[in-house]
Amino acid sequence: MMAAAGAVVMPREVGIRHMVEFAELSRALRGALRRGELSAWFQPQLDLRTNRVVAAEALCRWHHPTWGPIPPTQFIPIAEEDGTIGEIGEFMATEAMTAMTDWAIDMSVNVSPAQLEDAAFTTWLERMILRIRRPARRLTLEITEGRHLGDVPALVARLDRLRGLGVGIAIDDFGSGQASLTQARRLHATELKIDRGLVSDDSPDASRVVADAVALAHDAHIRVVAEGVETADQLDKVTRLGCDRAQGYLLSRPVSRDAMARLAAAIV
Ligand code: C2E
Ligand code: MG
Ligand code: MG
Ligand code: MG
Repeated sequence: MMAAAGAVVMPREVGIRHMVEFAELSRALRGALRRGELSAWFQPQLDLRTNRVVAAEALCRWHHPTWGPIPPTQFIPIAEEDGTIGEIGEFMATEAMTAMTDWAIDMSVNVSPAQLEDAAFTTWLERMILRIRRPARRLTLEITEGRHLGDVPALVARLDRLRGLGVGIAIDDFGSGQASLTQARRLHATELKIDRGLVSDDSPDASRVVADAVALAHDAHIRVVAEGVETADQLDKVTRLGCDRAQGYLLSRPVSRDAMARLAAAIV
């Protein structure tokens, strides 16, 4: 593509550096699982009616031996591109289901649209779910429509099979862009996660968007979780607006498996 004369949009080195970085990260990521550099961390969710921790979201962490921690916002897109997302997804789902079996709480795990395009993942998950001795309704798959979801009818059919087993479907990052209630209905979602951006926006408009979403979601028996709650005021607001659960630094940052185990033991 040609840039307009005089308007250099992207210097060539930036593109090359980006490609080199991608290739390097991709190569490192390939062996990361095998070398035990990836782990699941957990962030608790509070039930806003009972004030108890009732669930946790599993979040992937990568600690590289020399580069240190690499955030998922950096390596998940690479994993989606180079295909390692399949392995990472199975690893994270296994960690989530193991945790769910050990602790008596609900568990959410993030799933990339790229994983759902691959029928092997949902087939694998179905088998796993039939093997664990916890009700499948304790498990929720969080879907972010970062890019356009592929073959929607086939995808919905695969998600429906999981729903049939009791697995929940959450629409992640509602209010941040593509996520919508239309999409929630289309995917037969059971949960809507309100994005941190809407939670931290204290304008009346943002509150109205949340209130409307809660009303429509509740009409459709969809649970609403507020994400990224950082202050007591935000917690008050999302409680007042009718959200069912809250998650965020105010309650707890994501913690290691051991720390989450102690938290979970303290609840039950
Ligand atoms: P997400 O699914 O929306 O997860 C919530 C993110 O917000 C997490 O970032 C969490 O640490 C962060 N967060 C939670 N509470 C607060 C808060 O109060 N303030 C702020 N500023 N941030 C908060 P994290 O762990 O860096 O993950 C970023 C994204 O990477 C996730 O967003 C998710 O889309 C993706 N991701 C993480 N783990 C996985 C995974 O195992 N599989 C896939 N496919 N994606 C993953
Ligand atoms: Mg999520
Ligand atoms: Mg997400
Ligand atoms: Mg989110």
